[in-house]
Amino acid sequence: MVQLRSFFSTHEDAAQILLYAVIITLLWFAEVLVTTDGLKSKWRHSSVNLLFIFTALPVQLLLTGFIVIISKWANIGHWGILNLIHWRTKGWGYYLTGFVLLDLCEYLYHVIMHKFDVLWKFHLVHHSDLKVDVSTTVREHPGETFIRTCFLTLWVFILGPVIGVLIIRQIFQTFSNIIAHTEFRLSNRSNKIISFLFITPNLHHVHHHYRLPYTDCNYGDVLSIWDRLFGTYGELDREDTNFGIDTHMDENVNGKFINVVRIPFQKLERKEHPGDQI
Ligand SMILES: [Zn+2]
Ligand SMILES: [Zn+2]
Repeated sequence: MVQLRSFFSTHEDAAQILLYAVIITLLWFAEVLVTTDGLKSKWRHSSVNLLFIFTALPVQLLLTGFIVIISKWANIGHWGILNLIHWRTKGWGYYLTGFVLLDLCEYLYHVIMHKFDVLWKFHLVHHSDLKVDVSTTVREHPGETFIRTCFLTLWVFILGPVIGVLIIRQIFQTFSNIIAHTEFRLSNRSNKIISFLFITPNLHHVHHHYRLPYTDCNYGDVLSIWDRLFGTYGELDREDTNFGIDTHMDENVNGKFINVVRIPFQKLERKEHPGDQI
């Protein structure tokens, strides 16, 4: 036990991954209890998504070291937007500013992934899930994991946050993403209050609706303020929400890991639904 404790105190990455695995597992079983899906069909759906953990982890772990180097380099040389401000102490004001600016960067990243065909082909793998539950959180093509981490390196280079900001951000972001994908929607009243600042399952489910213009709204990562500010905020009732993406609704493709991994290397088709309004 003592050995285990000392292992986790020196390997924060491993401690975080274990914590997320426990949370995802607990929420997964909670979803089984409250939804009508049988254990077997839920596992069939989730097992495809869970395979993406094995392709994402090596990419993520490899590039994380690079981000740490950039952050240290920026702070030694006083580089980046955050270092333009003279902070008397790097207290909560500094951390909050770093967090909010990184959240804006993640919003921009998400918009960019939707707007350029070459990037969208990787991101649509996440959208191709015909049923959104907690396992959808990890449905990310390894190509997107690579692109996302490269963009994060760029944001760290531009902003120059200390590693503490990145760790706090990572914890909030992972919890927020897990919760946004659960099947537990908030009541309209609670959603109105919480979604004023934060992305809720109700908001993120709209982003997973199978067709435009809903797919192009609620890009926010942790905070919903950017969607409100830049006019990409959208709402849709649960009964009107259908998950998936209109160009890839074939369950034989979406339900098989190897077929999903091939999607970015195939010809892309875009569908417009100009008549629909948010
Ligand atoms: Zn998206
Ligand atoms: Zn999502």
